[in-house]
Amino acid sequence: MPTDATFILAGLFVVAAAAGWAFARFGGSREKENTKAPISADYLRGLNLVLDQQTDEALELFIRMAKVDSNTLETHFALGHLFRRRGEVDRAIRVHQNLLARPNLNETQRHQALFSLAEDYLGAGLYDRAEKLFLQLTESPTIATRALENLINIYESESEWMRAIEAHRKLEVLNGEKSSRGGQYYCELAELARVQGNFELARQYLKNSIRGGSGALRGILIRAAIEKDQGDYPEALRLYEQIVEKDRRFTVEVLGPLLECHKKIGSIKELEKYLEQLLKNEPSLQQDIAYAAVIGNFTEPDIIIRCMENFILSNDLFRSFVDVKAMMSEDPKIRHEHTSRIADALRDLSVNSARYLCTNCGYSSQNFIWHCPSCKNWETVRPLRIFQIDVSMS
Ligand SMILES: [Zn+2]
Repeated sequence: MPTDATFILAGLFVVAAAAGWAFARFGGSREKENTKAPISADYLRGLNLVLDQQTDEALELFIRMAKVDSNTLETHFALGHLFRRRGEVDRAIRVHQNLLARPNLNETQRHQALFSLAEDYLGAGLYDRAEKLFLQLTESPTIATRALENLINIYESESEWMRAIEAHRKLEVLNGEKSSRGGQYYCELAELARVQGNFELARQYLKNSIRGGSGALRGILIRAAIEKDQGDYPEALRLYEQIVEKDRRFTVEVLGPLLECHKKIGSIKELEKYLEQLLKNEPSLQQDIAYAAVIGNFTEPDIIIRCMENFILSNDLFRSFVDVKAMMSEDPKIRHEHTSRIADALRDLSVNSARYLCTNCGYSSQNFIWHCPSCKNWETVRPLRIFQIDVSMS
C-alpha cells in the first residue's frame, strides 16, 4: 500500500518537475533544451520508483533533485515528520540531514531542522545524539522551551536527576512560572541517598524538595523511613500517621511500617487504639487494613485480624471456601486458624499480581513507583485495596 509519505514524495516530483519546466520555459534560453530533458527524465523515474514503492531510491532521487527553498522547506519538514511517525526513522534522518546540509537556511529554519533531527534520534532510541542537539537549542529564541522539555524527558527516563533539575530550572525561567516537578527530582535524590545510608545528604535533598513545591507526601514518606532507619520510632510513627491523614489510600502502604515501629517500642496497644479511631471515622478502611494484612502476613494486633475476618465473611466467594461456623467461633484460636488459611491462599494467588495502579492512565505494577512510565505523570500511582488474583493453570 502506498503510504502518506510516498504520496508526498510523488507530489514533490510533480513540484520539482513543474519548477524545472518553468525554469526551462521562462528562464535562461540558451540551456532551455538541456534543462528540460534531465528534469523530465528524473521526474518520470521518481514517479516510477514511488509507484513501485521503492521508497529509498525515490527519496535519494528527490534529495538530489529538489532545491531547498522557501517553497519546498515545509514539504521537507512534513515528509520527515511523516517518515518518523511511521517509524521509518532512517528516512526521516536522511531528509533532515539533507536540510541541514543546505547553506541557505536562516537561523529559525536551521533550529527547526536540528530539532526535527533530534526528534528522529529520540525515535531511534539514540538518546545521546538527541541530547546533544537539544542542548544546542536551549538558547534558541524560537525553540528553547520545546528543547528543554525534551531534555527533561530524556533525563527523567535515564534517572539523571541533577541534570533534570538544571533543565527544569531553565524552563521555569523561560516560562516565568514554577512547576511542581523539581520537588520530585529532589525526592528521587533523597531516596537514593537514604538507601545508601547517607541520611544527612537525604535530609538536605528533602529540604530542596520542599522548596521545589511538590512531592510533599513523598517527602514525608522518605523522612519517616529515615527516622525508622535511624531508630527514632516515635518520630517515624508521627510521620506515618501524617501520611494516612493526608491520603487514606496510603493506609495499605504504611500499615507495615506502623506495625514495625510499634513493635520496636512495645506499643502495640497504641496501634490498636489508633486503628480503632481510624475505623470509627472511616469504616471502609477495614478493607485496606485487611488487604495490607494479607499481603504483609500480619498476625497481630487483634484489630487487624478482626478486619481480615470481616473481610473474608463479607465476601460471598470467600465465604464459600471457609467454614463459616468456625469463623464465627467464640474461640479466637479457631477463628485465627481459619482466617490464616484463606489469607495464605490469597497471598499465594496474588503474589505475582499488580499491587499499584496509576490513577491517571490505569498503568499497573507490582512495585510502588512515583513516576508513571506510561503517562509520565508524577505521584499519580496509588496502592490497590483489592486482590488481583492470578488463577492461570501452570
Ligand atoms: Zn499513568
